[in-house]
Amino acid sequence: MSVFELVELWCRSHPWTAAAVLLVLGTFAGSFLNVVIHRLPRGESIVRPRSRCPACGQTIRWYDNVPLLSFVLLGARCRRCQGRISWRYPLVELLCGLLWAALFLRFGPGKAFAVHLVFCSALLAVCFIDIDFRIIPNEISLPGIALGLGGSFLWYEQGFHWESILGLLVGGGGLLLVSLLYALLRGREGMGMGDVKLLGMLGAWLGWKSLLFIVLFASIQGVLVTLGMVVGGVQLKPPLPEEGEEPEQELASQMSGQAEAGPQGVPFMAAAIPFGPFLALAAVEYLFLGPWFYGLLRGA
Ligand SMILES: [Zn+2]
Repeated sequence: MSVFELVELWCRSHPWTAAAVLLVLGTFAGSFLNVVIHRLPRGESIVRPRSRCPACGQTIRWYDNVPLLSFVLLGARCRRCQGRISWRYPLVELLCGLLWAALFLRFGPGKAFAVHLVFCSALLAVCFIDIDFRIIPNEISLPGIALGLGGSFLWYEQGFHWESILGLLVGGGGLLLVSLLYALLRGREGMGMGDVKLLGMLGAWLGWKSLLFIVLFASIQGVLVTLGMVVGGVQLKPPLPEEGEEPEQELASQMSGQAEAGPQGVPFMAAAIPFGPFLALAAVEYLFLGPWFYGLLRGA
C-alpha cells in the first residue's frame, strides 16, 4: 500500500479531522495568496524577498507571520513600528482555509479535490487583485486556460475535453461579443479583456454547461452588491491608473462615466465595480450548488 493510499484511507475514515487539518493548511496557502495579491500586479517577485511590514519595511519574522494567529496576538499591529496591519490579510487566510476544508468535504480525497483546490485558490487571488487593481492578471488567466484545457484531457472523466473546449469558446467568445457590442453602442469599454479571459478560463475548467449558472449567479450577486453599496453610500476608490496614463484624466473619465450612468445624476457605480470577483465567486458556488441548480431546471 502506497503512502497516498494510506493518506486517502485515513482521510475517508476521519473526514472532519482531515477537514480541520486542511483548514489550517489553507490559512498558510492564504498567507501565500496575500503575497501574490500584493506583488503580482506590481510586477514583483512572489518568491523573494520575504514579507515586510508595509509601513516600516521590517522583515516579518516567522513567528509573527503565522496565519490568523499572529494578527490576533499582535493586536493587528506591527511589532516594530506599531503600524496597523490590514484586516484583509487574515480575511484572505481565513477564506482560503474555509475553502480548502469545504472543498474536501464536498469532493473527498482524490483527484477532483486536488484539481479544484488549485482552481479555487487561483480564483481567490483573482478576486482580490481585481478589487484592488481592476485587472485580472494574464499570469493567472492564461495558464489557467491552458491548465483547464489540458486537464480536461488528463484528469477529468472521458469526453470532458469537448465540454472544456466548448466552455472556453462559449465563455470567452460570448463575453468578447458582448464587450465588442457594448463598445460599439456606447463608444466606451464596458468590460475588460481580463473578464473575457477569466470567463474563458472558467468555461475551460468547468465545461460549457457551467456558464449559465456562473453568468446568472455572478450578475444577480453583482447587482445586489452594487445596490447595497449605493444604498449604504459606500464610495469605491478609482482603479489605479495604468502606466503612462494621466491619473487625473483617468479619474475624470471615470467620474463622468459614473454620473452619466446613474438615474437623476446619482452616481451609480455599476461601471466602477469589477465583475471579475463575482465571476470567481459564482464559479466556486457552482462547485457546491451546480448539481442542485441544474436539478431544479430539469425538474421545472
Ligand atoms: Zn512596521
